[in-house]
Amino acid sequence: MPDHHKLGRELGLFGTDPLIGAGLPYWLPDGATVRHTLEEYIRDAELRAGYRHVYSPVLGKRELYEISGHWPHYSEDMFPPMDLGGEQVVLRPSLCPHHALIYRSRAHSYRELPLRLAEIGGQYRSELSGVLGGLTRVRAMQLNDAHIFCTLDQVAGEARAALGMIGRAYAALGIRPARYRLSLPGPGGKYVGGPGMWQQAAAMLTGVLDGSGVAYEAAEGEAAFYGPKIDVQVTDGAGREDTLSTVQVDLYQPERFGLHYTGPDGARHRPVMVHRSIVGSVERAVAHLIEVHGGAFPPWLAPTQLVILPVSGAELPQALALRQRGAGQGLRAVIAGPEHGSLGSRIRAARLVPYQAVIGAREAAGGQVALRLRGGRRLDPRPAAEVLARIGGLIGARSTELWDTGAAA
Ligand SMILES: [Zn+2]
Repeated sequence: MPDHHKLGRELGLFGTDPLIGAGLPYWLPDGATVRHTLEEYIRDAELRAGYRHVYSPVLGKRELYEISGHWPHYSEDMFPPMDLGGEQVVLRPSLCPHHALIYRSRAHSYRELPLRLAEIGGQYRSELSGVLGGLTRVRAMQLNDAHIFCTLDQVAGEARAALGMIGRAYAALGIRPARYRLSLPGPGGKYVGGPGMWQQAAAMLTGVLDGSGVAYEAAEGEAAFYGPKIDVQVTDGAGREDTLSTVQVDLYQPERFGLHYTGPDGARHRPVMVHRSIVGSVERAVAHLIEVHGGAFPPWLAPTQLVILPVSGAELPQALALRQRGAGQGLRAVIAGPEHGSLGSRIRAARLVPYQAVIGAREAAGGQVALRLRGGRRLDPRPAAEVLARIGGLIGARSTELWDTGAAA
């Protein structure tokens, strides 16, 4: 696997500047397109799964994190507080406390549960400059996060559904989990709450994993400070393992924030918080995608999906018409005309683009294009409208296939 850092720069996806600072990458237009498309997929999948989206600020008062437990248990990873008019505010290390307060802002009945709040939002980590690099070790990240407020009885179903979303996302993104890990507490004082709370939460996650049929390993010392979790591990280009997706059961923060709902008995009950992330931070997810695919993204995710290659200037009107029709259906299409060199060199330059449409004199006269698929496969000339419809169908379905092999080639 290539290194995402080097490839990301070569492909013009992201960069850094010492004046912005280490671990604070910016996204170039092609990288921003990949990120935006990934975020769109996530929001769409969440909407279909019954999540509601919220926005919350990236700052909060120090007191908020004292209540959540981040300040006493996680502060070595947090940025120092900023003094502001006699108060201290900090860049948030996670989104959970904000979402807990959003839940608490109104009364809830058991009929509303599970309540699933999702956000792709910024969180911050005070990594030392020596370990920073590319998109995987950063000080500012956008987390694909969600918190499900539910009853104890609903936890297993919600965790199972989250694992299903993770599986579907990996299939669409063309990535594979290296392993599933049940992350449990280890020795040491960084874990909150009593042993009963941990046993109950771990038993629920174990039940979900056993029922899902995936192989997993238990690992001590990998839990969050507030609860155990299922981590989906992936392997990077250098063989290092990293957590991409996670499902966590938290009985602690609902207690700390005094969350409740009214049960069928009319009494107050404590909800459980299930924390879950489908692709982790978009930075880490895109880094992994760059490495796994060597820059050759699935067509729906590719920054440029179709490159149009008029053989000579004479076919430029047909090329422009094709680009316009493609753009009309949301396709990211560009024209690489003869001013960019020979046809062969233009095809090589576009080798990571999923679709290359060559238009010579014969194709132009017949309203056709000669399509080449990434990897070199050439298809017989066919009507431009048919090519656009079939590419559009595959992209709309977020397929990882370049061509519908079921249909006639
Ligand atoms: Zn959380």
